[in-house]
Amino acid sequence: MTENDSSERPHVVIVGGGFAGLYCARSLRKAPVRITLIDRRNFHLFQPLLYQVATASLSPADIASPIRGILRRQENVQVWLGEVVDVDPEARTVHLADGASVRFDYLVLATGATHAYFGHEEWAEHAPGLKTVDDATAIRRRFLLAFEVAEREADPQVQERLLTFVIVGGGPTGVELAGAMAEIARRVMPTDFRSIDTTSSRILLLEGQDRVLPTYPPKLSLKAREQLEGLGVEVRTGTFVTDIGEDYVVAGEERIAASNVFWAAGVAASKLGSRLGVETDTAGRVPVHPDGSVEGLPNIFVVGDLAQMEDGEGRDVPGIAPAAIQMGKHAGRNLARDLRGQARDPFRYLDKGDLATIGRAAAVARLGRLKLSGFVAWILWIFVHILYLIGFRNRALVLLQWGWAYLTYHWGIRLITGDPPVRLQRARGAEGVGSDDAPAKEDG
Ligand SMILES: Cc1cc2nc3c(=O)[nH]c(=O)nc-3n(C[C@H](O)[C@H](O)[C@H](O)COP(=O)(O)OP(=O)(O)OC[C@H]3O[C@@H](n4cnc5c(N)ncnc54)[C@H](O)[C@@H]3O)c2cc1C
Repeated sequence: MTENDSSERPHVVIVGGGFAGLYCARSLRKAPVRITLIDRRNFHLFQPLLYQVATASLSPADIASPIRGILRRQENVQVWLGEVVDVDPEARTVHLADGASVRFDYLVLATGATHAYFGHEEWAEHAPGLKTVDDATAIRRRFLLAFEVAEREADPQVQERLLTFVIVGGGPTGVELAGAMAEIARRVMPTDFRSIDTTSSRILLLEGQDRVLPTYPPKLSLKAREQLEGLGVEVRTGTFVTDIGEDYVVAGEERIAASNVFWAAGVAASKLGSRLGVETDTAGRVPVHPDGSVEGLPNIFVVGDLAQMEDGEGRDVPGIAPAAIQMGKHAGRNLARDLRGQARDPFRYLDKGDLATIGRAAAVARLGRLKLSGFVAWILWIFVHILYLIGFRNRALVLLQWGWAYLTYHWGIRLITGDPPVRLQRARGAEGVGSDDAPAKEDG
């Protein structure tokens, strides 16, 4: 243990360097505390742009920044790389996977959420979800490999299956993935291949509810659907997935042959929430008081996607980045108020609206009562994402790449990483890809 026990300043342990944890730490920069921020990754990830890594538009380094670097000038923080596996509220201690433990005076739990398969964990193998950089590069690999394998495939049926992409879940992530995949297949890749027509790729978006973007105003759901269909995405609403296998998905009564299924549906809170000894909600979120603390544990705050917090008017605060930032800052402020002997403030959620992009110059946005779609919404989407992206380098690089892609239709990150390309080998073995019947191509 490397704790500085000689310090008399209260020790604040923040677990998670995502939006909530990071902004909490920053809000305490002038507070008389010593902070230990622990994250299992050494970087803060801008999840809203993960889908662009998954669809080969940005590289992981464009949307991630080392936490240590972000907080380098904040002297009251030390950053630890480590995975917290347990919390003992009575002993005021968190335990790490490597056997270390840290005592705290205050704990801020900000470990976020992950995807959930509604009790069908076996689907995860065939339908990867999008939450981490590794998920994004794995999806990118699958997406790009499908075209490579199809290029060398002689059987049109197999080719069709390879070029059918199904996205399960019509929330913002599903809509953004589907739009970007359609755009790349139809507008970016056609001239790259000789044997296949990438514009004939099928991209299906399946949503169980009766409209895409179910949490947005119905008018914007309709606009999003129109823009997706304009890009050639087949949108199916009121459609529940009942099975997913290696090369198929069953949607309602229909079995769709598809080698590439991607999951953008359920969300489950980080398991760490269950270690606090309080009852969590059905998504595993920890209910918190208006001051951000947990019932019976006033020195423990839960913030961000892991918290079930009301917005001051009886509605649940949504699991989105601006809410996580606000909760993180709020917990920091209340903690500082404690130290000054002041009463804690209740949380007031400032609803900054909703934004989702569908493709080039296509997006939907809600700002209060204002509803926008198309080019104006897209410009707004760009502005907001650049604003919240951490680090000048990342902002400049992302803006440059978006500008370049807008002008040239050229997305530059179409790299298949990982060695060897297992799916390609398997497809060749099983179906004779690369046989004499297949179009001539250099053998890798
Ligand atoms: C693909 C995708 C797209 C999204 N798009 C949007 C969007 O367009 N707009 C929007 O507002 N929101 C979007 N969101 C939601 C938004 O990203 C989340 O609401 C926000 O990240 C929540 O912040 P958080 O700090 O609670 O959790 P996170 O940002 O998830 O951070 C949690 C941190 O905790 C760390 N951690 C987890 N477990 C442990 C552990 N046991 N020990 C140590 N560290 C741990 C993780 O490494 C991570 O750094 C999107 C999310 C995803 C996944």
